[in-house]
Amino acid sequence: MSHDSTMQSGQRIDGVAVARAVRDDVAREVAALKAKGITPGLTVVIVGEDPASQSYVKSKEKASVEAGMKGETIRLSEETPQAELEALIDRLNADPTVHGILVQSPLPKHMDANTVVRRIAPNKDVDGFHPVNVGKLLIGEKDGFAPCTPAGVQELLVRYGISTTGKDVVIVGRSNIVGKPMASLLMQQGAGGDCTVTVCHSRTRDLAAHTRRADIVIAALGRPESITGDMIRPGAVVIDVGISRVDDPTDKRGYRLVGDVHYESAAKVASHITPVPGGVGPMTIAMLLKNTVRAARQAGA
Ligand code: NDP
Repeated sequence: MSHDSTMQSGQRIDGVAVARAVRDDVAREVAALKAKGITPGLTVVIVGEDPASQSYVKSKEKASVEAGMKGETIRLSEETPQAELEALIDRLNADPTVHGILVQSPLPKHMDANTVVRRIAPNKDVDGFHPVNVGKLLIGEKDGFAPCTPAGVQELLVRYGISTTGKDVVIVGRSNIVGKPMASLLMQQGAGGDCTVTVCHSRTRDLAAHTRRADIVIAALGRPESITGDMIRPGAVVIDVGISRVDDPTDKRGYRLVGDVHYESAAKVASHITPVPGGVGPMTIAMLLKNTVRAARQAGA
């Protein structure tokens, strides 16, 4: 990816293009594995009818098939007892044609998500939420799986040639799916890491004082357009993980998608900035495919 020094405002980081490049790399690796008799397989399990979740799982299956993998979606009814879901996971854990297992969240209220995620074999947990993978990420063991959204943010930085070494990074948000694993990734030694990381959250005193001194700001707080340009140091890199619907009567859908960053004001001061949509979002599925192909490679090794 090239840097454009002639632009007045920050360079827009094109997540669609980077995700496409990652998916092309994955497809090449799938072809190489198939030549050795291994077809990487991703099985997505969805429980219930939540329309947003149904659309996410469709995209995941489509993307895995496009990359040449065996993509499968197993749909269970909302009333499925947890024991039945666990028995299915046991079967998938034992199936050598399944290399990656993902149980779509949220699960129905009668299920305990923590127990379900612990049931997935860590070497097939391509979502990276099993405590074994969380631990491997923290201690820097490379054969585990990092959660796809923060891994996608790191991939964007690396592929745009944005150096992270010694940089002050401020992450806003400390969830288990974004903020905490993001901090684990960026503090590790090596390419795409070696950052000095600060993690802010709802109890942080004076959030702007932290973001204003950051070389890289990563917004994952789930509050639309709350990180504004005056909170960004001129020349900083701004990564917006947030994605929310806000009412917009001028849009034919009646809403539009916005991030946690106020794009217009932040783009005026940032050196690089991700848009919403089209920034971090497309990276999540690309990294899921990347994790799955590595799971298949590691299983075949
Ligand atoms: P959570 O709601 O789980 O976590 C939000 C975090 O932000 C919490 O740690 C919370 O602090 C912190 N926070 C909330 N308000 C403030 C505030 N005013 N100041 C500072 N910190 C605050 O959200 P997620 O991590 O799941 O998601 C964050 C955003 O990213 C959402 O918009 C979500 O839709 C989006 N997302 C996008 C993905 C993608 O693009 N593929 C994937 C996952 C998420 P505390 O811990 O104290 O409550």
